[in-house]
Amino acid sequence: MGLFIILMGVQGAGKGVQAQFISNHYGIPHISTGDLFRAMKTREDELARRIQQIMASGQLVSDEVTNEVLRDRLEQPDAANGVILDGYPRNAAQADWLAEYLKSQGETVTAVIMLKLDLYTAFKRAFGRVKSADSDKVYNLFFDNEAIEWHYEDHPQEEFPPRVVATEKATGKSLVRRPDDANAGAIIKRIDTYLETTMPLIEYYRQAGLLSEVDAEQSIADVSEAIKGIIEKASQDS
Ligand code: AMP
Repeated sequence: MGLFIILMGVQGAGKGVQAQFISNHYGIPHISTGDLFRAMKTREDELARRIQQIMASGQLVSDEVTNEVLRDRLEQPDAANGVILDGYPRNAAQADWLAEYLKSQGETVTAVIMLKLDLYTAFKRAFGRVKSADSDKVYNLFFDNEAIEWHYEDHPQEEFPPRVVATEKATGKSLVRRPDDANAGAIIKRIDTYLETTMPLIEYYRQAGLLSEVDAEQSIADVSEAIKGIIEKASQDS
């Protein structure tokens, strides 16, 4: 049996980091449907163009198209022994499709891992995230006061909300937010969408006896350890 893992959690719960850990540790590809769609940007055909429009509008791509794109990816040879899915399924119809597809391959979902994070912390992780333009090191305004200095600077005419001015203490480099993290309303919208679409799925997988929850407020290493325990137990049981 392969290792077919679904990773769920609100934005900021550390899904990307943990998906990479699972991928490296178990030698299975990390498949994000959002990444698959983004990779189609360079294609010129009608379907690719339609997908870019849908993504830009913030809506979900249809189940039919999403399932076909995923099927293509699952049929690649590197996915034969399992995959770590991130951003899929997004609703019960996709979960049903996946179950059927895996059944047709003589496989099943091994485990569904939910990274649990309270929503206020999720908000602070996104809203506080800053980095310098020339480094990948990410800091957080609310959690990294040892390494960074920051304050709010009022707009001279107070026509705009105060601006964050942040610097890395060690180098004096200035740190900035990602544009989509600077908009508190957009972060709340993403959290709301997550609650609407993902919560019913969590119940779906809980009832199927496949769901395990991990406290995502622990350190990255502790979350990875907990995930390893879940996957090892689930693969023994299946
Ligand atoms: P993500 O990177 O997972 O946030 O996905 C970015 C965008 O891709 C979403 O806003 C949707 O438009 C689309 N997308 C990704 N995964 C799915 C999915 N499973 N079903 C439908 N649309 C998706």
